Amino acid sequence: MVAELDLTQTYTGVRVFLRSSLNVPLEGENVSNTFRLRESLSTIEFLARAGARVVVCAHIGRAKTDSLKPVYEALKKETSLPVTFASDVCGSDAAEKVRALKDGEVVLLENVRQEAGEEKNDPTFSKKLAAFGDVYVNDAFPDSHRAHASIVGVPALIPHVMGPNFAREYRALERARTPERPSLAIVGGAKLETKEPLIRTLLSLYDHVFVGGALANEFFKAQGHEVGRSLVSSGPTSAQELLANSRLLVPTDVIVETAEGEKVSRAVDAVMPGDIIFDIGVHSMERLRAYATQAQFILWNGPMGNFEAGFDEATLAVARMVAESFGVSVVGGGDTIAAIERLGNAEHYTHVSSAGGAMLDYIAHGTIAGVEALR
Ligand code: ADP
Ligand code: MG
Repeated sequence: MVAELDLTQTYTGVRVFLRSSLNVPLEGENVSNTFRLRESLSTIEFLARAGARVVVCAHIGRAKTDSLKPVYEALKKETSLPVTFASDVCGSDAAEKVRALKDGEVVLLENVRQEAGEEKNDPTFSKKLAAFGDVYVNDAFPDSHRAHASIVGVPALIPHVMGPNFAREYRALERARTPERPSLAIVGGAKLETKEPLIRTLLSLYDHVFVGGALANEFFKAQGHEVGRSLVSSGPTSAQELLANSRLLVPTDVIVETAEGEKVSRAVDAVMPGDIIFDIGVHSMERLRAYATQAQFILWNGPMGNFEAGFDEATLAVARMVAESFGVSVVGGGDTIAAIERLGNAEHYTHVSSAGGAMLDYIAHGTIAGVEALR
């Protein structure tokens, strides 16, 4: 069992160490998309209004020098709460600001990955963080596939629960591992090496698994077809072995860009050496629709083609057919969400996951480090 933050309680005087997901896109000093920020803020506001003294811990970007200061500025614009910013993670400024917190006040710590101890899950560093809270709340599912100090080290030291955003994601993905039947998984995107464990698991959990995107190229190759200049993985894959599974649905036609730069549709056994496969064809989409129409549960991750470059027909067709399906639908992936945003129909899916790699890991392995740490 994973315990969940009780939203019916008050938390007057309780110091909450809250791991939030604030890794939002920045354009210069501006937050260009505040969706994740507002989701995270809802938990911060709940805790503060329930009387807690909230210490918010999060990371941003990839570089150690990246700062959460711009996120703090954006946060202040979105809330009327008293929020301060600590210019370090667990140094003198953080310690001072945490000590000064009154009930209902919030402090945001600087980017936790500025400290080397975070990614190493260093016990000394975890102790310093844990000293800031009486309880630990993890509301950062998208960051919880990493066994970092703020994800697994701190909850090992103090009482711990999952926050509402974490819980919502966790429940949806648990549901995606026990789909109502008939069930359909649709997987696209790139890099079979990274999505192979996912496909393998899906073949054991779903009645049918349709592969599209550049992933499908590996299967065309394994079927002995020409794939021309298409994107394929450099190393060996187990596409051959997976092909033997009758639950796997492989496209039968594609859209290519020819050596002459023309956009042409072809059967998969008619691809030419000069072609690049950039999208899945209409016949395969019609066949997929037959499964989607019957499905009680659909999971979708990954675009069907190189949609950013204009090869977006199959991806948008999938987005529409999943939205129109009458069963439960769980969709996710950074690029998948970008495609959905183009249609602006996010409300037509049961759950849209913004957890990225954590979502794929959770479904593939049935758990992630941050979930285990909360048991
Ligand atoms: P997600 O972020 O939704 O999990 P991925 O990151 O796995 O998806 O894959 C998305 C990328 O795959 C996109 O940049 C898309 O252009 C690319 N892609 C999909 N199909 C093809 C293809 N046939 N050829 C080249 N790139 C492709
Ligand atoms: Mg992606």
